Amino acid sequence: MAAIDMKNIVKKYGDGFPAVNDVSIDVADGEFMILVGPSGCGKSTLLRMIVGLEDITDGDMMIGDRRVNDLAPRERNLAMVFQNYALYPHLSVYENIAFPLRLAGASDSEVDEKVRTASKTLDLDEHLERKPGNLSGGQRQRVAMGRAIVRDADAFLFDEPLSNLDAKLRGQMRTEIARLQKRLGITTVYVTHDQTEAMTLGDRVAVLKRGILQQLATPRELYTNPGNLFVAGFIGSPPMNFLPATVNGTTVTLPFGDVQIPERSAQRVENATSDVLIAGIRPEHFEDAAVKNESGGSTFRAKVEAVEWLGNEAYAYIPFEAPDAVRSQLAELEKDLDGEGLRTQMVVSLDGASTIAEGDDAEIWVDTSKMHLFDPATGENLT
Ligand code: ATP
Repeated sequence: MAAIDMKNIVKKYGDGFPAVNDVSIDVADGEFMILVGPSGCGKSTLLRMIVGLEDITDGDMMIGDRRVNDLAPRERNLAMVFQNYALYPHLSVYENIAFPLRLAGASDSEVDEKVRTASKTLDLDEHLERKPGNLSGGQRQRVAMGRAIVRDADAFLFDEPLSNLDAKLRGQMRTEIARLQKRLGITTVYVTHDQTEAMTLGDRVAVLKRGILQQLATPRELYTNPGNLFVAGFIGSPPMNFLPATVNGTTVTLPFGDVQIPERSAQRVENATSDVLIAGIRPEHFEDAAVKNESGGSTFRAKVEAVEWLGNEAYAYIPFEAPDAVRSQLAELEKDLDGEGLRTQMVVSLDGASTIAEGDDAEIWVDTSKMHLFDPATGENLT
């Protein structure tokens, strides 16, 4: 097992904008690290540089105490698990797992011992004679991991292993990978564009945008304290609402009313580049005022355009005006987030028991203590 330390890693293809731009990420021994971001953010390139499938333009790639920049992939002792698992269909589970050992010239007895130990750990010992075609998706994933385990690799690397699966299987496999990773305690770097996968699997998550590391933190920290607008918008589903917030002394005026600026951020708000900031409030921090049972926060009335009822909760859609001062920043942000353009309605999560209906002039409660304020020019979180 080994730690992986990426120090100021740069990747340039030709003369263009760097695909990976001065990224530093330290993966601790045994840690599950996620690299996440929208298409083209550089996450796969970074993973390929760890494995050795891509040259490193600048920086130091450390695995344990070895600098591996100039080592060939096979000298790095890492195990990559691919999207399609890369199993040999004509070989049994046993021989698929044994494959790297045979390649390395291991004796039959060594192969047998290692394959049997690995298959026990992976609950595959009853399937050793079957072919991959007769296995479930989950079992195939485990065979691919078995092949990685028998090599005694220093780390596992995954590149979007679940992206070809349907939603239900993806959920099951996610649980399985998390369980195995914990059981084996093996250093893992996992690439995905799916923020749910990132949040549920990672000990820590590195969020990337256009080759630049935006934030490296635990899932909880990313959710509660996103460093900038991009991270705030990327993490969470449905996404955080972004609303224009005009500063008036110690309060900000939001589309639905005035809210006190948290004392801790008063100074930073004062130093912001503009008087119109972007407020961020997650859908789940709103509630139907009639069913909420918490004190604090504030209430407002708003016209509800539509309601989607999901059983245990409902989403209400409330339109708002985005003034010119923040329109272009909000539109730019949506583009970065692969959104469908400027959002001019907020999503409010309601308890399933709420009776708020389409067209109502409803009373909504909001937990203003959870509000974030962002500088529209820099995207920085000021709260
Ligand atoms: P995706 O999820 O779509 O695979 P990604 O976040 O993994 O995206 P990369 O594949 O790492 O992103 O690509 C990062 C950037 O580098 C992109 O702009 C991409 O077009 C560019 N790029 C990747 N591979 C090459 C290459 N071989 N030659 C030139 N440019 C490349």
